[in-house]
Amino acid sequence: MNCIFNQHSRPGPVAFSLYLYVPLTPNTKVLMKLKFCSLSSGSNGNCYYLGNEFHGILIDAGISATAIRKFLKNMNISMQTIMGVMITHNHIDHIRGLEVLTRKNYLPAFTTPKIWESILSPQMKISPDCIRYIPLQKKFHLAGFDIEAFPVCHDAPETIGFHICTGDKKITVVTDLGHICQTAAPYIKEANLLVIESNYDEEMLVNGRYPPFLKARIQSDHGHLGNHQTAAFLADNINDNLSNICLAHLSKNNNSPEMVLQTLLETFSEKGIPPNRFPQISILNRDTPTNMLTLIEPDTL
Ligand SMILES: [Zn+2]
Ligand SMILES: [Zn+2]
Repeated sequence: MNCIFNQHSRPGPVAFSLYLYVPLTPNTKVLMKLKFCSLSSGSNGNCYYLGNEFHGILIDAGISATAIRKFLKNMNISMQTIMGVMITHNHIDHIRGLEVLTRKNYLPAFTTPKIWESILSPQMKISPDCIRYIPLQKKFHLAGFDIEAFPVCHDAPETIGFHICTGDKKITVVTDLGHICQTAAPYIKEANLLVIESNYDEEMLVNGRYPPFLKARIQSDHGHLGNHQTAAFLADNINDNLSNICLAHLSKNNNSPEMVLQTLLETFSEKGIPPNRFPQISILNRDTPTNMLTLIEPDTL
């Protein structure tokens, strides 16, 4: 079940539309459409789409290339408009479709030298033509977006989040992190649209059937964010720029969309945040297809 707060929904992948005013001259502005979709989110596979009227990018390719192509086609998004895939780290739920996407669609893939080193192997051969190296915390431009990678704490050789700016909008995507470290916090606080992990309900994990070593790994500073961790950070840092929160990478065995939403709303309430200050909240579904959302209908502008 896909759980949406304060939105109408219909079948299809979770998607948002934002509109950007892009100044051409000091007195001229053009309306640009910005779209964000989750194709899949969770340990089963992660893949997110961000696009404008002309181009798009993917963040992670953790489901099969066939599924990515199918879901994009269902949304009338041509693979020809995808300019690249950003890779957060080497765990299989983030790179499952990478080899085929680069081989069959010649899609360039962007990540840091250290993450490339951890990805490339005899089982994961990527054509050198598709390998793009990006620095940490230095902007690069692609498909109309200014993109900046920042390091987060997770149990991979290196893991990054992405902060993406276009026009006056800022999007931060951070899906695997054990705690909100100093390098990640500023990017999270700046976002208008924030995709952030809310992986497990603390009580379900502690009382669940996972072996002690796995529970410890998930709860560690280099594991995943629990519902209360994410909710507390959001409640403490809520600001008027944050229009949309997408809660991502839910555990199948130790969480539910209902638990995520309940924890967040209770935490906001406990911190005295009035409902009229809540951003739009969406819980990204683990499986596809999920629901489609539109943040701003064209005729409401
Ligand atoms: Zn993951
Ligand atoms: Zn991971």
